[in-house]
Amino acid sequence: MATTSVTPAPLLHGIVLDWYRENARDLPWRAPDASPWAVMVSEFMLQQTPVKRVLPAYAAWLERWPTPAALAADAPGEAVRMWGRLGYPRRALRLHAAAAAIVERHGGEVPADHAELLALPGVGEYTAAAVASFAFRQRHAVLDTNVRRVFARAVTGEEYPAQATTAAERRTATELLPDHPEVAAAWAVGVMELGALVCTARGPECGDCPLRPHCAWDRAGRPPYQGPARRGQSYEGTDRQVRGKLLAVLREAHGEVPRQRLDAVWPDAVQRSRALDGLIIDGLVEPVGSERFRLPA
Ligand code: SF4
Repeated sequence: MATTSVTPAPLLHGIVLDWYRENARDLPWRAPDASPWAVMVSEFMLQQTPVKRVLPAYAAWLERWPTPAALAADAPGEAVRMWGRLGYPRRALRLHAAAAAIVERHGGEVPADHAELLALPGVGEYTAAAVASFAFRQRHAVLDTNVRRVFARAVTGEEYPAQATTAAERRTATELLPDHPEVAAAWAVGVMELGALVCTARGPECGDCPLRPHCAWDRAGRPPYQGPARRGQSYEGTDRQVRGKLLAVLREAHGEVPRQRLDAVWPDAVQRSRALDGLIIDGLVEPVGSERFRLPA
C-alpha cells in the first residue's frame, strides 16, 4: 500500500479517522438517515457553493422534492427557480435531468452502482464516487478540490494541485484508499473535511493539523507554488453576474417576463444580450415569441 515518503498508509488512515470523529461538522447530508437522494442533492449543490449557502437551499429543496420522482414530476424551470442564488444554475437542470433518468431507468431509486451513477446525466466522476461512497459506503477514490489539496501538500509536497485532476493524483488517491469499504468511505469524507477546515486553500492551519508530522510540504519548508497562475474568482462585471441578474428577474416573476424588464437589470446592451443568449442556449431560459421570456416549462 502507498505511503507518504515515510508514513504507512494505515497510520494516516487512523490519524484522519480519529481527527474526523472529533472535529466533523454536523451536516444534514451526513446524518445516518440521509437518503441517497439527499446525498446526491448535497453533492450537486456543494460542487461550487460553500456549505453555509447550501444548507438552507438543501433543506428547502428536499422539503419540496423528497424523492427523485417528486422533482422529475415538476418542470425544469421550477428546479432553476428553487436553485435560487446558489450560482452555476445549470446544475439545477442537470439535477432535474438526473432525477428524470433515475425514475426512468431505476424505478425512482438512486442506483448504488458506480457505473450506473456515472451514466446519469450531469453526474461526473467525482459525483458518482461521492454518492457511491457517502450514500452506499463503497470504496472509491473521491477527489474534490479539498482532497486534492490535502494530497498535494501532505503526500506530494506541493502547495496546490494541478488545475485539472491528473492520472498521478488518481493513482495516489487509489493507492491510499483503505481496503475496507466502510473505512474507505470514512477516509474519503475525513480527508475532505480536513481540507475544508484545516488545510484550507489560502491559510492552512498547520499548527492544528493532525497530519503535520507526516506532511511532505511542511517538511520541505512549505515551498511556494511554482505552477501556472491560478484562476481568480472575479464576479463583478462579468457575464456571470449579468446572467444572475437576468435569472433573478425570471425566478421572481412566476410567469413570462417582457424584454423591457430584463433590459432594466444591466445597462450594457451588448453584454446583456450576450448573457441572455447564453441562458437560452444553456436551456435555463425559454423565449416566448421574440419579446417575452420564462424559465423552462
Ligand atoms: S500540515 Fe499544513 S499543509 Fe500539511 S496537510 Fe496539514 S494543514 Fe495541510
